[in-house]
Amino acid sequence: MRSGALIAAAPLHLDPVESWDRATLEEFQLAKLRVQLARLAQDSAHYAPLFRRLGWNVGELRSLADLSRLPFTHKSDYVGSIGAQTPFGKFMTVPQSDVRRMHFSSGTTTAPTPQFWTERDLDRWAGLYARHAHAQGIGAGDIVQCMFTYTWFVGGLGATAGYQRAGAMVIPAGSQDTERQINTIFTYGTTVLCGTPSFITHLAEEVSKRGLDPAASTVRGIMMGGEPGASIPATRRRIEALWGARAYDAYGCLEFQPIAGDCEAQAGPHLAEDFAYAEIVDADTGRAVPDGTPGVLVLTHLDKQAGPLVRWWTGDVVVRDSTPCSCGRTHARLVGGVRGRADDMLVVRGVNVFPSAIEELVRKTAGLGDEYQLVIDASVFDAAGFMKSIHLRVEQTEPSAEAEKLAAQLTQDIKQRLQVGAHVEVLPFGTLTRSTHKARRVVRE
Ligand SMILES: [Zn+2]
Repeated sequence: MRSGALIAAAPLHLDPVESWDRATLEEFQLAKLRVQLARLAQDSAHYAPLFRRLGWNVGELRSLADLSRLPFTHKSDYVGSIGAQTPFGKFMTVPQSDVRRMHFSSGTTTAPTPQFWTERDLDRWAGLYARHAHAQGIGAGDIVQCMFTYTWFVGGLGATAGYQRAGAMVIPAGSQDTERQINTIFTYGTTVLCGTPSFITHLAEEVSKRGLDPAASTVRGIMMGGEPGASIPATRRRIEALWGARAYDAYGCLEFQPIAGDCEAQAGPHLAEDFAYAEIVDADTGRAVPDGTPGVLVLTHLDKQAGPLVRWWTGDVVVRDSTPCSCGRTHARLVGGVRGRADDMLVVRGVNVFPSAIEELVRKTAGLGDEYQLVIDASVFDAAGFMKSIHLRVEQTEPSAEAEKLAAQLTQDIKQRLQVGAHVEVLPFGTLTRSTHKARRVVRE
């Protein structure tokens, strides 16, 4: 028997706030928002003058829906505030001497921007992460090998504090040195791996190359973040099969740590609704969309002290389900995780097509590599300027394979699954540009 199986019977910890009924939760959110916005009207170098300019005061917040009278806060506002007030910008809101930690964005689209945490913010962060661990049945007795990056960015330290609080022993392994990672798993009996889906997959391949079977290791749980893979069914299934373990999605960004995490039901990551108030809005109109409809996730901190944000435009497209989960939690779930970036969503003949959906099909096609590119060029538009089809570039792994056959098969799969036409170009392996950061899947030509 694998040692991890003994741990699975650990009692389920459920913070009472996680099972509040919706009315109680909304009452709580409104009370917290009133306190938070009154504080920002007083102390925030960004929001105080903004509220004054708008002639808005917190007395106008009579229901949660009233929050929509305030504008969104975009990344460009944050970056712009740093230009106006260097080096920290206008969002810190507490005296610098009260800040205990500063992390930075990965800077894939702009220069790295900072975000801040007070002692209480760090404590809250660890508590929320520990909640995810409990929801995944991870705790005392577990050995967690954390392979997120520890420097600059938020990944490693946040997970470490959370899993420690949940009772696990954490190894701060970082994302380097494959050999040592493997030795550590097999020497110390690691039961849980944390990392990006791409690194976790790479590690399994490296384990196999050494004549070992990752599925026969002590690893029983995998917590993945940083990339959307854990909620892409084909990617999740592949990783679960490779390691013989359950894989869970953890979603967060620099500004909101964490946003949502999977429970054992794997029915979509649960939002932390007592930490951030979530709106799902139409990418074009900014108006709220009903549950079940894809929209951009917009978040407001309910009690963060340092760097609090109001109506933060994450740019991530999600689908919300607010019905209670079979695990007993009532906090809403993001079904299918993050579907993609609003900027990357294509609307083809009225069908929303995300790169993640294409990724699912590319990775299921034997003979194709993992890289792909969606090309936006003149060929994909009809005379009226609407997208009529997609143009996809992929790579074949075997030079001898018949490119036309692979293209035809993928075109057919896309038509069948997504109901859109596709022109698929199959290129020799290594043709498409690799990125060491998060890959750009949509290119405009
Ligand atoms: Zn659940």
